[in-house]
Amino acid sequence: MLTELVLASGNKGKIAEFQRLLEGLDIQVHSMKEYPEIGEIVEDGATFAENALKKARTVCQATGKPALADDSGLMVDALDGAPGIYSARFAGEQHNDADNNAKLLKLLESVPDEKRTAQFFCAIAIALPDGRQYTVEGTCPGTILRELKGEGGFGYDPLFYVAELGKTFAELSMEEKNRISHRGHANRKAVEILRQLRGE
Ligand code: IMP
Repeated sequence: MLTELVLASGNKGKIAEFQRLLEGLDIQVHSMKEYPEIGEIVEDGATFAENALKKARTVCQATGKPALADDSGLMVDALDGAPGIYSARFAGEQHNDADNNAKLLKLLESVPDEKRTAQFFCAIAIALPDGRQYTVEGTCPGTILRELKGEGGFGYDPLFYVAELGKTFAELSMEEKNRISHRGHANRKAVEILRQLRGE
């Protein structure tokens, strides 16, 4: 039975979000901080799911405990799905959200409003010590604005507009965003798998 889980992420926001979803499930959650010896895992897969699986498997093997990892990003239709798996380092290795957003706006300068469609994508992988592994995915459609709007969130949130809500991701509360976001959808599917592995 599954009683422990290592979250293969150093991102405090993601860990807090996931821990909240796990409330009520009797699973002891460990963060990567407890395992500094693992170091950085190179994300060299061709897809979000490959990257998430590599991270989950590596952490599971290193700790001997079940591990969960995610990989996510933005796919813009007019850019043939870019930045995709390169979302974090779109403007270079320095991982700067402002630079990434500026690059995206520049590339889409001449793209008309109706062609500025995009989706956020999130893959989550769970790896167990006995070799079993699971992946789930979540998506969220939207459009890319011509200027930043909103102060919340991170990454491409101020440019990602959800027409049904009349707001960008950066204008949503964390609860509102979780309800509709790619990560929220994938997280809930992952929790469902964990629940089954707990035998509930
Ligand atoms: P990772 O899954 O933490 O590697 O995230 C990859 C990158 O995708 C982030 O650095 C952001 O640029 C982008 N991204 C993923 N999810 C979101 C989101 O919910 N809002 C804004 N940007 C995101």
